Amino acid sequence: MADRFDLVVVGAGIVGLATARAIHSRRPNASLAVLEKEGEVGVHQTGHNSGVVHSGVYYRPGSLKARLTLEGRAALLEFAAREGIRTRTVGKVIVASRPEELPVLDSLLQHAQANGVNSVRRLSANEVTGRLPGVAALGGLDIPTAAIIDYPAVTRRLAERLISDGVAVLPRHELESARPAPGGWDLNAGESFRAQFVVNCAGLECDLVAQKMGVNPPVAIVPFRGDYYRLSHRLRDQIPCLVYPVPDPDLPFLGVHLTPTVDDELLAGPNAALGLAREGYRVGEVDPRQLLRMAEFPGTLGLARGYGALAAREWMRSWSPAAFLAAIQELWPAVARSDLGSRTSGVRAQAVRPDGTLEDDFVFVRGDSALHVLNAPSPAATASFAIAECIADEAGIPRAS
Ligand SMILES: Cc1cc2nc3c(=O)[nH]c(=O)nc-3n(C[C@H](O)[C@H](O)[C@H](O)COP(=O)(O)OP(=O)(O)OC[C@H]3O[C@@H](n4cnc5c(N)ncnc54)[C@H](O)[C@@H]3O)c2cc1C
Repeated sequence: MADRFDLVVVGAGIVGLATARAIHSRRPNASLAVLEKEGEVGVHQTGHNSGVVHSGVYYRPGSLKARLTLEGRAALLEFAAREGIRTRTVGKVIVASRPEELPVLDSLLQHAQANGVNSVRRLSANEVTGRLPGVAALGGLDIPTAAIIDYPAVTRRLAERLISDGVAVLPRHELESARPAPGGWDLNAGESFRAQFVVNCAGLECDLVAQKMGVNPPVAIVPFRGDYYRLSHRLRDQIPCLVYPVPDPDLPFLGVHLTPTVDDELLAGPNAALGLAREGYRVGEVDPRQLLRMAEFPGTLGLARGYGALAAREWMRSWSPAAFLAAIQELWPAVARSDLGSRTSGVRAQAVRPDGTLEDDFVFVRGDSALHVLNAPSPAATASFAIAECIADEAGIPRAS
C-alpha cells in the first residue's frame, strides 16, 4: 500500500523546503512530503551559490523577480535572525569601469527606485575609490542593504524544522515516474506514494520532472556553470563589501564579482559558461543525455546565434585562469595570478525559450493537480520564502487568517 500525502514537493533545495514550510504553516494538518534524490538537502544550486541576499535593484519593475526579491529577503533575514543563522549586511557597490556603463548605472538606479529600494544612491569615481582603493571606477552605485548569508545552513534548518513538525523530508528518493491517479498522482521514487497535489521544485531537473508528469514545458533548462576562485588572504581585508561590475542588461547573469563570505573568505566569480552536464561541476564535464537534449531542443540554434560570442568568452574563462584573472582585473587591477587560490563551481538552472532567448523572470506552470517551478535562477535563493507563498497561492491553499 503506497504512503498517501495531501501534497508532495519534489526537490529539497531552498525553494522546495521553503514551499513545504509555507504550505505547512497554512495547513498544519495536511500530510506533506519532500522527495529529494540526493543524500542531503540543498546540495545543488542552493549549496553552490554566491551566498548573497540581493536587494532588488536589478529586476524589471513589475516583474515577479522585483516583487518576490523584496518580500523574500525580508522573510529570509527574519528567519535567519530567529534561527541564529549567520548573516552580515555588508552592502554592495556596483562599479562602472567603462564610460558606456555609466548610463546603465542610471537605469539601475531608476529600477531600484521603482522597486522601492530607496537607500540606493549614485557614487562618484572618487567616492568608490575612497571606499575601495585600487578598484577601477568611473562611477558606482551604493546598495547598503545587500547582505551575505549561509544558505546551506538555512536549508538544513528548514529541513530540521519541517521534520520536527511532522513533514516527511525524504533524501535518496528520486522521483522516477508519475502516473495520474484518482484524485492526484501515483509517484514512484524507489517506493510508491499517492499524492493529491505535487509541486515540482527540482531545479536543474525541473523540466524533466514536468515531462515525467505529462507536461510539455514551454522552456528547457540549460545549465550555465559558474566558477569561483578563492582570493588570497592579503586581499581579503581590502574588500569589506560586495563589489559587482555593471551587468549586461540583456543577460540574467551579473558578471564576475567580488564576494566576501560568512566564512571570512573572499571569492571572485562566477562566470557563466554553457554547461554540457546539468550537475557538471567540473570544467569539461559532458553528459551524453544532455548533449542529446541540446541536439533535439529547437532553442539551441537561437542560443548559439544570440549568445555564441558570450559562450566562447565564458568558456575561455573556465578553461584559462589567465582569462578569468583578466575578468577580475577589469574590476580590480590589483589582483595578481598568485592571488588565485582554489576553485569551486556552481551550476545555474537557466530556462531557455524555444527561440533560444533566455527567460528572465521566474516561471510557474500549472498542470493537473500539480504546479511546476520552471525557472528559479538567481535571485531565487533570496526570494525563496516569497516564491513559496506565491506557489502556495497558485496551488489554491488559502493563507491562514
Ligand atoms: C553559481 C550560482 C550563484 C548564485 N548566486 C546566488 C546568490 O548569491 N543569491 C541568490 O539569491 N541566488 C543565487 N543563485 C541562485 C540560487 O542559488 C537558486 O536560484 C536557488 O538555489 C534555487 O533553488 P532550488 O530549490 O530551486 O534549486 P536547487 O537548490 O537546485 O534544488 C533542487 C533540488 O531538486 C532535487 N531534484 C532534482 N530532480 C529530482 C527528482 N527527480 N527527484 C527528487 N529530487 C530531485 C535536486 O537534487 C536538488 O536538491 C545562484 C546560483 C548559482 C548556481
